[in-house]
Amino acid sequence: MKKYVPYRHRSHCLECGCVIDYAKSNQKFCSDSCRDHWHYRENKKAGRFFSRVMSILETNRSILIQLTEEGRDKVEMTYLESRGFRPGFCTGFTKRWGYCEYRCFDIKYCEKNDLVYNISSLLSIDEL
Ligand SMILES: [Zn+2]
Repeated sequence: MKKYVPYRHRSHCLECGCVIDYAKSNQKFCSDSCRDHWHYRENKKAGRFFSRVMSILETNRSILIQLTEEGRDKVEMTYLESRGFRPGFCTGFTKRWGYCEYRCFDIKYCEKNDLVYNISSLLSIDEL
């Protein structure tokens, strides 16, 4: 017969959900194996998230470079979005008087009232 363990002394494993009797206050896993599986899965999720964000940033940068190569330094945000640009993904941001200046790696641009303008390449790392 299994001995009764008061609820306050029980915890549940984050990986398999089994009851951990007499758990220490910070014990989250029933075994080393469960701890390893849980951390492996969480790290994999974080890696996918990072890769996805980097992919979006690279796409945004590529679109901005194409515009500068076409000689365009002013477009509407809706046009950028139609080319696959994702607003909100940038590597730097400065709020200026009346407008916002963004950076996507080595490309900078300003935005005001759905208009994206002054799209240009940073010539020097000193401008960061
Ligand atoms: Zn477990």
